Amino acid sequence: MLDERTPSTAITGYAPMLSLPDPRSARQWCRDQRQSGLSLGFVPTMGALHEGHLSLVRRALAENDRVCVSVFVNPLQFNDADDFQRYPRDPERDRRLLEDQGCHMMFSGTLGQFFPGSAGNSIPIVDPGPAAAGVEGDARPHHFGGVATIVRRLFEVVQPERAYFGEKDFQQTLVVRHVAAGLGYPEIAVCPTVREADGIAMSSRNVLLDADCRPRARALSIALFAARKAWGDGTRDPGALRATMQEVMAAAGVEWEYAEVRDPVHWQAEPPRARMDRAQALVAATVCGVRLIDTLRLDTP
Ligand code: AMP
Repeated sequence: MLDERTPSTAITGYAPMLSLPDPRSARQWCRDQRQSGLSLGFVPTMGALHEGHLSLVRRALAENDRVCVSVFVNPLQFNDADDFQRYPRDPERDRRLLEDQGCHMMFSGTLGQFFPGSAGNSIPIVDPGPAAAGVEGDARPHHFGGVATIVRRLFEVVQPERAYFGEKDFQQTLVVRHVAAGLGYPEIAVCPTVREADGIAMSSRNVLLDADCRPRARALSIALFAARKAWGDGTRDPGALRATMQEVMAAAGVEWEYAEVRDPVHWQAEPPRARMDRAQALVAATVCGVRLIDTLRLDTP
């Protein structure tokens, strides 16, 4: 007989999300799901969640029986200790947002729990593959090695059928595909960039931007869309595409770190010189002390 004080999931359709404190318990839960024949979708994050993350969670929920999300600010991928300290964290809000979406499990952990037996700088770094060279890889040495190392460990913990990443971190998606190819799983889904109403790509770091900084922060997306317009008007010369983006950012008073184009299918570390058949534009700039990146495929509407 049902206890009236504890409504059954079957009646309410509501199941509280499980929040697990470490990778060991997450691994066990994920194994249980797989052994029950349930497909598992996985969304790795660093928390301070926003609509961009939640769009990945919704897609994962639509395509899998169970969805789990990791929330872990990975020190291995930061090359600046201040940036790591300042990175926004709000685990209780993250938990509520994920539960509202219908996510089944979230987990976190410490570096020591993810890599037991390894002290901070003795953790073996996973090769991030050829796409780690150039652009963001040059701007942030060791960043993609840190990404590949934690992503592989997260995949080993969850062993998902599918994992979901945002196009916003385009070069990262290439690194993640390299890691997944090495393991033989999971299938990688790349989801479109979710933008704020003013065009700025959603990012956990946006909360660090005060109102005065937003017009300058907008310059990144305006530059990308100007490059897409130039592409639509027939521009195929990489130098001209770069110049279009640089002009927009210079006019807004933004000092860009890079404003680049690359072939998204055949990644090359070096800037292309020849006329392009397809192009991914990538920009990075620090605005009011906050490092922002954004990207846009130019040859699609
Ligand atoms: P992060 O917490 O920044 O490591 O991001 C976790 C995942 O969310 C990564 O796959 C990101 O690419 C993705 N993501 C971050 N921002 C956005 C966005 N604005 N739109 C879509 N996906 C995003």
